[in-house]
Amino acid sequence: MSKAVVARPIDGITINTNLEFLLDDDGEVQMFGSPEQAGSFLAAAGVELEELRHMTIMESCGICRKCGSPLFKSLSPGYTFQCFTCDEDFYQFEQDT
Ligand SMILES: [Zn+2]
Repeated sequence: MSKAVVARPIDGITINTNLEFLLDDDGEVQMFGSPEQAGSFLAAAGVELEELRHMTIMESCGICRKCGSPLFKSLSPGYTFQCFTCDEDFYQFEQDT
């Protein structure tokens, strides 16, 4: 099953398109068991619909070749995937998808 993370605008609701990932209490990227779970979490957290519209729930798109963790599309320009466990960005040819 696909894991999911949530990306949101860094400065809240602005025309700024820079995104950051939603973090958990330990400062790690909050990982959800599925996109549906991420949606329920945001709803339960009382996120306003208007704010929700600016957030992106990203589904995992592969498995890290190094550590086996789910890979997500990178927010860094020029890179395709990133692994939160290795804390690295990857080009597509570096990973199995
Ligand atoms: Zn990894």
